Amino acid sequence: MHTYYGILLPVKKKITSSPAAQRLWNKLQPCWPALKGSLAQVRKPCIRPHCPACASGKKHPNYLLAFTQNGRRRCLYVPLSMVPVLKRALANGRRVEKLLYEMGPALLQEYRASHPAQTGPAVRANRLRTKKSSAKS
Ligand SMILES: [Zn+2]
Repeated sequence: MHTYYGILLPVKKKITSSPAAQRLWNKLQPCWPALKGSLAQVRKPCIRPHCPACASGKKHPNYLLAFTQNGRRRCLYVPLSMVPVLKRALANGRRVEKLLYEMGPALLQEYRASHPAQTGPAVRANRLRTKKSSAKS
């Protein structure tokens, strides 16, 4: 276990100090609160006898937050005052997901900038480019 941490720590330090990591942290901060799930409005009957809303078929509006927990779909009732907060959190959740999708290309681009390719199509294209530019001058 100690060797595991011994190997992980320097790598973690190196990755968080990369410009891509710094950009991610900066973009993540204003994304709070964030969540993944879906908010749905449902209409439910109540337990009051002779309720006019239920008798008319209108029933009572309620919000449900649906989300996945440990692979299982779950739902929770949402207090009306929390609806705007959760809507903002859902939008932020989509923003965070988009940021995470951007991280793969950003990390690879960063890696390639510090580790230039020795072989492959990028090197061949670069050789052609430098030949052309040196032929011009
Ligand atoms: Zn009712």
